[in-house]
Amino acid sequence: MNAAIRMEGLKKSFGRTEVLRGIDAEVPEGAIYALVGANGAGKTTMIKVLMNILRRSGGRAEVLGEDSRSLKGAKFCQIAYVSENQKLPEGMTVGAMLDFVRPFYPQWDRALERELVERFDLPLRCKLKHLSRGMRMKAAFASSLPYRPKLMVFDEPLGGLDPLVRDELIEGILERAQDATIFLSSHDLAEIESFASHVGYLENGRLLFSEEMGTLAERFREVTITLTGAARLPAEMPEEWLLPEAKSSVVRFVHSRFHAGVSEREFAERFPAAKEVAVEAMPLRAIFLAIAKSGRKHRAAAPVKTTAEGKVGA
Ligand code: ATP
Repeated sequence: MNAAIRMEGLKKSFGRTEVLRGIDAEVPEGAIYALVGANGAGKTTMIKVLMNILRRSGGRAEVLGEDSRSLKGAKFCQIAYVSENQKLPEGMTVGAMLDFVRPFYPQWDRALERELVERFDLPLRCKLKHLSRGMRMKAAFASSLPYRPKLMVFDEPLGGLDPLVRDELIEGILERAQDATIFLSSHDLAEIESFASHVGYLENGRLLFSEEMGTLAERFREVTITLTGAARLPAEMPEEWLLPEAKSSVVRFVHSRFHAGVSEREFAERFPAAKEVAVEAMPLRAIFLAIAKSGRKHRAAAPVKTTAEGKVGA
């Protein structure tokens, strides 16, 4: 599958401060990729480098098959970029802004524009400076979707919106972006959980993982092992067992590379006195928390690679 965005060792520093510390990631065409991370993790910086607003300090970045540094002019006819902090022409009415933007895009779809204005209930005669935050985002989307961009890049598009407006926006965008790739940032996992197909987790300028939501959910398990005697952790714990703890006769940990069949055999070998082993799937929030709390983030968070024989390797 082709990548709509590809980053290889991507770095960005401001003076001596390294904000992106070597990012490797791919956003497959057609994906809805959510870049999640706390405030200050580097999400906006990454997006600005990808959109050629900021110059990278090292590594490579490709957007729609081209070096991100060559993004300009006509290439932006295929890209929508909407940011939370985007400056809008405040003195213009919504209608005037749409009139202004339309001629820049030869492929502009008037019917889609009308549909969006109706769907988002946008007041065409109202000046942008008088719009609420949610309405401003809707106006920004109404001026970005009608040219049917191949790639949509949204920086914190949903931050601070009430749930109703948020759902309306998500539905409105997804319905009209069937063939497009969406790359959006968010600091709130709950916000993206229901619709993202891929997720990347950025912490302090490093991407702790970048993968499909489904595989992430498949490889993380909460494991509880009840022993016949007092519980003790093995002297050497596998790196992929996160947050291990032993209390009375119970050992608990989060397995970050669980593989049915293989992992159970490993539990039996390491805990011969096991009376009961419980393996439970984890909600995404719990997975993120386990990664964030764990001190072994990098290796443990790497996606699993499975061989044809079902063996698990790093
Ligand atoms: P938020 O969710 O709060 O928007 P973020 O993940 O988008 O955060 P960035 O805005 O990319 O994070 O900022 C990452 C770090 O880079 C922060 O410490 C910020 O202070 C720093 N930074 C961003 N832009 C600049 C700049 N122009 N000059 C110096 N430092 C900057």
